[in-house]
Amino acid sequence: MGTCPPARMLLLRDNFTGLLRLWARPEVLTCTSWGAPIIWDGTFDPDMAQQEAIQQNLTIGLTVFAVGRYLEKYLARFLETAEQHFMVGQRVVYYVFTERPAAVPRRPLGPGRQLRVERVLRERRWQDVSMERMRTLHAALGGRLGREAQFVFCMDVDQYFSGAFGPEALAESVAQLHAWHYHWPRRLLPYERDARSAAALAVDEGDFYYHAALFGGSVAALRQLTAHCARAQQQDRARGIEARWHDESHLNKYFWLHKPAKVLSPEFCWSPEIGQRAEIRHPRLLWAPKEYALVRD
Ligand code: UDP
Ligand code: MN
Repeated sequence: MGTCPPARMLLLRDNFTGLLRLWARPEVLTCTSWGAPIIWDGTFDPDMAQQEAIQQNLTIGLTVFAVGRYLEKYLARFLETAEQHFMVGQRVVYYVFTERPAAVPRRPLGPGRQLRVERVLRERRWQDVSMERMRTLHAALGGRLGREAQFVFCMDVDQYFSGAFGPEALAESVAQLHAWHYHWPRRLLPYERDARSAAALAVDEGDFYYHAALFGGSVAALRQLTAHCARAQQQDRARGIEARWHDESHLNKYFWLHKPAKVLSPEFCWSPEIGQRAEIRHPRLLWAPKEYALVRD
């Protein structure tokens, strides 16, 4: 690893991000301790990232689950705004997982963009719907999705795009800084602490708290990630325990063990309820209001 420039070097050329303009954001952390770039607005050249991706003739997958009332509540806006902002100019294949394929909104898509709908069983508990995504994604990545796409982003449906989300976000493995936790001290981060859980992290472990509403990477890297999380969740279930934040706890354990190659700033998945923050210049995805009483049983 080690893709960040040494201190004081002004410009660096790297795949997908083009020229990293590190001093454009002196007030935020732009490189992890293991040398992965943390992508903030102004630290990359979107046009160069775009050209690089076009030269590589990529197909980029975007997976989203819309099970139960999450479908009516969120899916149309998620897909409509993805058409406006997600990887515009690239080849894109959306994968929507739902128990009701006929209810998925069908709108004309931009050139080079396709929508595939895959049927899943509806789990009874919302926690199980959320966790079961890991196993379903693992299977999909080993099937048509994995043959069609080279890079894939896996997202929650209860959010919508509000700004350009382009190939600057691509890398072998990509983790999202959690909007509510990116400035918290490590010992206070809401990792799973019960040592019996496969997701457990000790007080001196953990780099950042990552948000499971958005992760991505190459097909091979995501096969490994989803296999790990599905296995760990199964192990906990066999012991009669469940990690504090479900699949997110296991994702955080995975990224502690296997460092992401790229980290996205909270600008890429921001919660408007937090309000204005000087360092949040240009949000790309916004959390939809949490209406759990309406969507969860
Ligand atoms: N989800 C779903 N139906 C459910 C529960 C979850 O489709 O009954 C999917 C949906 O994509 C949702 C994601 O799983 O965005 C994670 O659940 P949620 O967003 O409620 O978790 P939170 O963001 O509050 O942690
Ligand atoms: Mn969510």
